[in-house]
Amino acid sequence: MNKYLDFQNYINEYPNEEGYFGEYGGNYLDDPELVKAFKEYAEGYETIAQSAQFINELRRIRRDFQGRPTPIYHCERLSRYFGKMQIYLKREDLNHTGAHKLNHCMGEGLLAKYMGKKKLIAETGAGQHGVALATAAAYFGLECDIYMGEVDIAKQAPNVARMKMLGARVVPVSKGLKTLKEAVDAAFEAYSKEYHNAIYCIGTAAGPHPFPLMVRDFQAVVGTEAREQFKDITGHLPQKVCACVGGGSNAIGMFVPFVSDPVELYGVEPLGRGKGYGDNAASISLGKEGIMHGFKSYMLADDKGEPAPVYSNASGLDYPAAGPEHAFLHDKGRVNYVAIDDDEAIEAFFLLCRLEGIIPAIESSHALAYAIKVAKEGKPGSILVNLSGRGDKDLDYIAEHYGFGDEFLKKRGIIL
Ligand SMILES: *Cc1c(COP(=O)(O)O)cnc(C)c1O
Repeated sequence: MNKYLDFQNYINEYPNEEGYFGEYGGNYLDDPELVKAFKEYAEGYETIAQSAQFINELRRIRRDFQGRPTPIYHCERLSRYFGKMQIYLKREDLNHTGAHKLNHCMGEGLLAKYMGKKKLIAETGAGQHGVALATAAAYFGLECDIYMGEVDIAKQAPNVARMKMLGARVVPVSKGLKTLKEAVDAAFEAYSKEYHNAIYCIGTAAGPHPFPLMVRDFQAVVGTEAREQFKDITGHLPQKVCACVGGGSNAIGMFVPFVSDPVELYGVEPLGRGKGYGDNAASISLGKEGIMHGFKSYMLADDKGEPAPVYSNASGLDYPAAGPEHAFLHDKGRVNYVAIDDDEAIEAFFLLCRLEGIIPAIESSHALAYAIKVAKEGKPGSILVNLSGRGDKDLDYIAEHYGFGDEFLKKRGIIL
């Protein structure tokens, strides 16, 4: 079979009615109330999101509130520094709130409005999803409950303040390790009790059906815009496209509009400190098939099948699984999954600051680092990087751990 899948067929076939992308995805929840809630959710999404009214309203929001379309930018100095490969960025860092997450949060908020729900519920780890969702809730005039581990609340003071400023309620979770996993459990528990009045809004293209489908559809605006813009600017399609993969939302939104094109796609996972257990979060590159958090995919698990400890210097990438559509596209051979370690990402971070005047998120720096790795091979061509977010949130962390760039770059043999 041709690995360049026909776009319309692909969208019609995957996922199927039960939310499967091949063997991945589905809905593996045991709580019967949650099963009922998700069934209603999937039906609501399928009927409402197809309506012209919904689509038009979302288009208007994207333009007037989010500031879309975000531009494509040719990194001329960065490309010249490494030679022939031309590096382009899709500037999701210029989307309102500074990252791609708002693309699905606005879609989820609009769906809540059409379904007659009054509240948005979610968990957050580092707080990025919580801030994007609190923004959507304020826009639509909805209540917003964000469940967050007490450890994360202490670490992420600026994002906690942002959520509160935006009118959200930040609910501290004090069970277990008091981080993301416990926050997920608490948010699901709240949703199973409140689904008549609320919808649950996941932060990535993972979780039980219909989330991987819905988040993919809402994020596809990124790839759809980028494909047209790139053709307008250069007269052709990019040779390669890459994006970082945490749960996989910015990457899947970038990739799917290119599935039928002769374009190489690269999902970039975080290799952290290396390949050891607990040292990375490269779920597809280093993990195996399994079921967690209500869906089947590739994941990093311990001997008992429980989520393994994960690490990356990018807090948005340290999730022990990748969304099911990525697992499927990996097995099909349509997307290549590669891994970039902490230091490679930081090198890319400093280079983009110094050579282009753009401070990227550490997550997005992983995708850029892959483009730089390719550029270092010295061959001609073009690579489009999804710059998923801006780096303001990371400045204190980087200054403390890596300084301001001179020493770090010199140690890696880079003199600008
Ligand atoms: C959350 C986040 C990511 C990772 O999430 P995905 O769902 O994999 O896209 C990547 N980049 C930024 C800037 C983020 O905030």
